[in-house]
Amino acid sequence: MARDASHTSGAVRPNTRPATRTGCAVERVRCALYRVPLAEPVSDAKVTSGRQQPLASVDVLVARIATADGLEGIGFSYSKRAGGPALFAHAEQLAPLLIGEDALAIGRIWEKLVWAAASIGREGLAVQTVAAFDIALHDRKAKQAGLPLATLLGHYRGSVRCYDTGGGFLSATDAEVVANAERSLARGVGGIKIKVGGDQRSDLARVAAVRGAIGGATPLMADANQQWDRAAARRIGRTLERYDLTWLEEPLDAYDAAGHAALRQALDTPIASGEMLSTTRDLRRLLDAGAVDVLQPDAVRVGGVTPYLRIAALAAELGVTVAPHFATELHVHLAAAQPAEGWVEYFDWLQPLFEEQLEIAGGRIQVPDRPGLGLTLSPRAETWVRAAAELPER
Ligand SMILES: [Mg+2]
Repeated sequence: MARDASHTSGAVRPNTRPATRTGCAVERVRCALYRVPLAEPVSDAKVTSGRQQPLASVDVLVARIATADGLEGIGFSYSKRAGGPALFAHAEQLAPLLIGEDALAIGRIWEKLVWAAASIGREGLAVQTVAAFDIALHDRKAKQAGLPLATLLGHYRGSVRCYDTGGGFLSATDAEVVANAERSLARGVGGIKIKVGGDQRSDLARVAAVRGAIGGATPLMADANQQWDRAAARRIGRTLERYDLTWLEEPLDAYDAAGHAALRQALDTPIASGEMLSTTRDLRRLLDAGAVDVLQPDAVRVGGVTPYLRIAALAAELGVTVAPHFATELHVHLAAAQPAEGWVEYFDWLQPLFEEQLEIAGGRIQVPDRPGLGLTLSPRAETWVRAAAELPER
C-alpha cells in the first residue's frame, strides 16, 4: 500500500486553494537593498570591547510582493554592519519560488522558502531573508482585509508603551546622554534605555547621572550588549540594583542561558535578552532555562511574523514579558496584539525609508490606523538603493 504523504512530519503540501481564481496569486516580486545612513555613527559595548566598528548605516532589504488583485505587500529585513548584500543575494535567489503562490498561504510559503536553503541552515541570514517576504505577505493580507496588521492579528490595545534607545549609546558623553533622555521624554516616550558594558566606574556614573536627571519614576533600562562575563555581570549588576532599573539587558553572551538564569537568581533587577537570537528554538532555550524576565525577540531576526508569533505566544503562556527589539514600525503592530503589555523599542533609524512617521505621545506609540503596516517607501529612499531586482523581469 502506498504511504500516505500526509503522515510526513512538517510536509509542505501543494496548493489547495485556487489562488488564480481568488486574485491572491503572486504575480510580481521586487527586492531592493538600501543603505540607510545614521545621523551620526554610534557605538555600544561591542565596539568599545573591540569586537565591532562604530555603526554608521543600516542595510535594509525591502521586499514587495504584488498579487493578481492589484494588492502589494511590503516587508523588510535588515543588517547592521556586514551581511546586507548577502541578504539581497539570497532574496534574489528565493524570489522565483514565490511566483504563482497563494499569497495567503503564508505559513506554507515560509516553510518552502526556509527549506529551499536548508543546507545553509534554518537560522541567521537564511531566515532573515525570508523575514522580508513573510512580513510583506502579512502586510498584504492585512491590506486585503482593509485592517492594520495589529487588528488583523487580534489587537489588545491601540497604542504600546515605548522607550528610547537612540540617545544612550556609549559614543555619547554622559552629559549628552542626559540631554538626549530629557529631549526624548519631552517628546513623549515612556522610558529611557542607556548603554553600559564598559568599565564598572563609568557604567555606574552613567546610570547615576541619567537616573538623577529623569527622576525615580521614569522607567530606565541598561543594556550591556553581551560584553560582561558572569562575574562582572554579577558584581556590576549588584551595584546597579539601587537604581531601580526596569531591566538589565544582555548582561552576558546571548547564548549563555544558564548564566542568565543564575544571574537572574542573584539579582532583584529583571533580566532581559533575546534580540540576537535568530530561531524560536534558541529563544525557547532562554524560556526553558528561566533565564529572562523580559524576552526580546526581533521579528526580523527570527524570520518574520510567522515564527515571532509562535515564540511570543509561548512567552505569554509562561508569564514572561515580551519587549521586541528594534524595527519599531513592525513591532508596534505585533506588541499591540500580545495579551500582556510589553514595551516597544523606539528607533528612528528606519524612518527615513518611509513616508509615514510614528505618532508618540504620553509614553506610547500609536498603532497606525492605515491598512497593513501602514508604510509606503519615501521618494528619498531611492538615493540609498545599492541593488534591486524584479520578477518577472520587465
Ligand atoms: Mg539591546
